[in-house]
Amino acid sequence: MKSLYYFTSLLLICTTTVFGQQQKSNKGHSNNPYYSTTDTNHIKVSNAQWKKILSPNLYAVARLQSTENAFAGKMWKSETKGTYYCAACGNILFKSMAKFASTCGWPSFFEPIRVNSVNYKEDNSYDMHRTEVTCARCDSHLGHIFDDGPPPTHKRFCMNAVSLDFEPETTAKIKAK
Ligand code: FE
Repeated sequence: MKSLYYFTSLLLICTTTVFGQQQKSNKGHSNNPYYSTTDTNHIKVSNAQWKKILSPNLYAVARLQSTENAFAGKMWKSETKGTYYCAACGNILFKSMAKFASTCGWPSFFEPIRVNSVNYKEDNSYDMHRTEVTCARCDSHLGHIFDDGPPPTHKRFCMNAVSLDFEPETTAKIKAK
């Protein structure tokens, strides 16, 4: 009887967790079968396929390495606590505690949430030598990294806001309950 109780409880917890994750994963991404905030496995999706799924603005930045205008939207100056995900695939990327006030006009972070959340690539376009930051799950362009960030890393992950989805901490806490 006791084991039945534990099994039922476990089943209830699993069901609630999966349901909660699906809600988050599908939020605004019902047309995107690759979007998941829990799956970290690498995915290989063609640009032709991405073009059918992503908004034109996100496609231009994420898949064609375009850069959005500085000071676009409000994310660059937002101090709301929460979590930032890849807007193309849902990969978890940054925590708000690693975000800092930057005057550059793009959301800036001093470190990713996991060292393997992002990848780095040499970028010599526009006669500049920069390091591109891409999503480690879907290879989408996120922005660039510079060496003028604050302690403790002194790095500045300069991200395009359109490449990021944000989930406020309060929402995440409510869902966790
Ligand atoms: Fe991604």
